[in-house]
Amino acid sequence: MTIAIYPGSFDPITNGHLDIATRSAKLFDKLIIGVYDVPGKRLLFTTAERIEMARQAVIGLPSVEVEPFAGLTVSFAKKVKAQVIVRGLRMSADFEKEFDMAMMNKRLFPELELVCLMSSLEYQFLSSSLLKEAANLGGNIDDLVPKHVAVALKNKIRR
Ligand code: ADP
Repeated sequence: MTIAIYPGSFDPITNGHLDIATRSAKLFDKLIIGVYDVPGKRLLFTTAERIEMARQAVIGLPSVEVEPFAGLTVSFAKKVKAQVIVRGLRMSADFEKEFDMAMMNKRLFPELELVCLMSSLEYQFLSSSLLKEAANLGGNIDDLVPKHVAVALKNKIRR
């Protein structure tokens, strides 16, 4: 059984993340979305909120689970017995960052493989940070996130 983890901040989960999760769910027996639970990281949503939004977003994907994790990604992979890390690659800045992280992870846990899926064309320029910025300035983000995430974003920003 091949288990993969898909780690990230997911602040909040977007259709770009979901595209990667849906496509990797077809490649592995089980996919665990690992939501960073990092105190101090400047995020808009709490860990509980990010987990809840991600769980609701993958309700239609039975082999996908959502778990919080703190500490090293490789330790999380070991804990859940994953053989693979999944990451999404957008055209611009992702490659260098992923390459450095992959080199470090390989040193820490050589048996763990990294699988990067290229972002679909329509989500190439979608990031949680840009999304939050657009929402904050009153932009329409409804096509970029699941409906419940759009509602949560609007509520959070209104406060
Ligand atoms: P992190 O803080 O680890 O970058 P993110 O939640 O921003 O967490 O992203 C998690 C993963 O999803 C990363 O591999 C990132 O490159 C990927 N990702 C984010 N947005 C997209 C997108 N629009 N299309 C494809 N992959 C994406």
